[in-house]
Amino acid sequence: MDQLFETDPIPTHNGDRKFAQVALEQGIDAGPTGLTYEVGGELSDIAVGDRVIVPLGRGNKPVAGHVIEVTDHCDVKKVKAIQSRDPRGLSLTADLIELAQWMSGYYCCPLGMVLATMVPAAVKRGTGTVQRTMVGLKRDEGTEARRHEGAEKEKIKLSRLQKAALEAIQQSEQEWIEMKELADLAGARSVAPVKQLITKELLITKTQSIVKADRHGNLSLNDLAAQVQPAEPLTLNDAQAQAVRNVGSNTNRGFVVNLLHGVTGSGKTEVYLRIIEQNGGSAIVLVPEIALTPQTVSRFLQRFDKVAVLHSGLTNAQRNEQWRRIRKGEANIVVGARSAVFAPLTPSIIVVDEEHENSYKQDQLPRYHARDVAIKRAQILGIPVVLGSATPSLESFHNATTKNSFELIRLPQRVAGLKLPKVHVVDMTEERRKRYQKSGKGGIHLLSIPLENALQRTFAGPDRGQAMLLLNRRGYANYIACPDHTCGWMMYCDFCDASMVFHKNAQLPSGGQVRCHHCQSEQLLRKRCPQCEKKVTVFGLGTQRVEEEIGRKFPDIRVRRMDSDTMRTGRDYHDSLEAFRRGEIDLLVGTQMIGKGLDFPNVRVVGVISADTSLHLPDFRAAERTFQLVSQVAGRCGRGEHPGEVYVQSFNPDDVTIQSAAQHDYDGFAKRELGIREEVGLPPVARMARIVVRDKNLDKCVEHARVLVDHLDAFNKRLATGVNITGPIPCAISRVAEFHRHQILMIAQNASQLQQLMTALRNEKSLKSDYHTAIDVDPVALM
Ligand code: ADP
Ligand code: ZN
Ligand code: ZN
Repeated sequence: MDQLFETDPIPTHNGDRKFAQVALEQGIDAGPTGLTYEVGGELSDIAVGDRVIVPLGRGNKPVAGHVIEVTDHCDVKKVKAIQSRDPRGLSLTADLIELAQWMSGYYCCPLGMVLATMVPAAVKRGTGTVQRTMVGLKRDEGTEARRHEGAEKEKIKLSRLQKAALEAIQQSEQEWIEMKELADLAGARSVAPVKQLITKELLITKTQSIVKADRHGNLSLNDLAAQVQPAEPLTLNDAQAQAVRNVGSNTNRGFVVNLLHGVTGSGKTEVYLRIIEQNGGSAIVLVPEIALTPQTVSRFLQRFDKVAVLHSGLTNAQRNEQWRRIRKGEANIVVGARSAVFAPLTPSIIVVDEEHENSYKQDQLPRYHARDVAIKRAQILGIPVVLGSATPSLESFHNATTKNSFELIRLPQRVAGLKLPKVHVVDMTEERRKRYQKSGKGGIHLLSIPLENALQRTFAGPDRGQAMLLLNRRGYANYIACPDHTCGWMMYCDFCDASMVFHKNAQLPSGGQVRCHHCQSEQLLRKRCPQCEKKVTVFGLGTQRVEEEIGRKFPDIRVRRMDSDTMRTGRDYHDSLEAFRRGEIDLLVGTQMIGKGLDFPNVRVVGVISADTSLHLPDFRAAERTFQLVSQVAGRCGRGEHPGEVYVQSFNPDDVTIQSAAQHDYDGFAKRELGIREEVGLPPVARMARIVVRDKNLDKCVEHARVLVDHLDAFNKRLATGVNITGPIPCAISRVAEFHRHQILMIAQNASQLQQLMTALRNEKSLKSDYHTAIDVDPVALM
């Protein structure tokens, strides 16, 4: 059947006419080939990747798109012509077009939308672009000297400043000078003398657009680059040298995925730097947004001089400036967060640091995973990839071990002189009992006695150390409820299936806000239970409460809380980390924000307030997350001359995941967990795609999901794709911001089965991502 539609179009006699297939940026799903347009005379040099403006629909509305193919034949009857080229000359490289086509198919997203994501909005809008008037000497009358004489001879009267300006431009090495700059060189206070020279036709003008990024309120790459001194490479230890050699020899094979499993503090960054140098010094380095600190960027600036940085903390103008530098070849090392995987250069290697990080997955269309996209891009380009992590995702580990499709390279030890910290698991049930014996009072104590003692030791004396406390929950208390068990009232969000969280705020008369962490709605704190009039209590843990407790127990300690409530901008985050580095802060209390890739030598104690918060999430990756979280935050200490100590508090101290993390036993954890996944048929042993249907009306939501399941079932049978389809069932959070949510899970042996099924439905127009339907291939979270 398929072949019927795949035969070549009957050759038509189109003479010298030229056509282009264009994928429109708006979400029209026109399939992998886009729409056909004719290429008019003056646009005859149009090429694949060029951004163009084309007429759409009956009204011929001008819309933007990218050329994905140029041909000399056309199989549509009525063809419109491309209107114009993008005014800024934007164009994507051919490998990016191929990548977009793959993404469009794999992630079930219209091609034009994928292409639109590849170019930042700031670049398309030209944010920060300014038009400058440049002036130059009129050249068509022979040499400059003669012209000058000519001017004298013809007795064109020039003022002193006009003469000065003319001389300045003659002596300048630049052919074109900005009007204002020339006026300055001539010592003029305004541009008037230069303008008069233009009127007298001694100077000519042209406009040139340049991108001027503002330097305010942000980490500016230029400022950072000015501070950083070039540095010599470190002397590699044996494991690092071996890793560099291994990647080097794999590189001869072109496309290879290397998984660098290096424990925290094993010096992975130095390995990346060497490998990049070896590979011709052109690279994309992906780093999780939150780990993209000045310290990280500096390490690249110390060793390479053409570095560009792309992350969400940049202003639009800065992003535009960075992107254009890369495009023009002024930068060939791109260090950036998720979307930097689309950087417009041809790298010779791609590095994905902390490859296990969930932030590499975009949670809106196109729902891509930057690690996987990086691998695909490398495959298209025939270049190597290096994935690095102390706690590799089970996906990558499975690929490197059982499936043997990645090369596994290990850095099993920390760099010379540094030891992995000792991790103590603290039994909180026992702690509660001890505290009760001591004081006769029950209730939850945030700090166990061993953790409190360790903090005491660290902060005592003149040689004061630093510490970090992690709690993966912000706010003060995450439950507001009636204390009477027989009543059972609890405060829920009006719009979500979630409990409200209390945020303390002494400046408010009510003492704080009650907020929903899913829809951000707020309510007033109730003093009394609406059902039984008893005084309500707030309980549960939150970072604010930890901060308060530290204030009570260690009044002299300088604490900084780091969570998304206190760290509103990238600037707040960078400033806090710099203050911590300078020793102006003794203790950081925070959410997972503090657990990522930071290297502070004076951190001697790390506390995990509750390892149970992530362990009990209703998600099959709960154990994996917990292992990562504990290992990563533990890895922040003992990076200097003092050994590190870690305290992990839990009500499940014997839990195997927590125990493996405490013993730094990644392999043991991974083997066991992969065994479980194999047994129950879950990723990475199987592949998964998830569809979430949402609607404000519950019946409509369920109905829509049912219809989808019916279609999926029918096609699954007809095509014998062998996909296991479950649902619809309510999501773990069954309502968010008034939308009811139901999910359909599809599980298969391999990704192509899922692709086959979804593509079939997509071609029939019975499956598409829209306002009510979210298709998530390889989902990383199932809430
Ligand atoms: P990881 O990313 O593996 O946790 P880093 O790359 O942050 O580790 O390195 C940890 C620390 O060790 C850094 O301060 C780094 O400068 C230092 N380091 C790395 N390699 C070496 C080496 N060969 N000799 C000495 N110090 C090193
Ligand atoms: Zn809500
Ligand atoms: Zn009550």
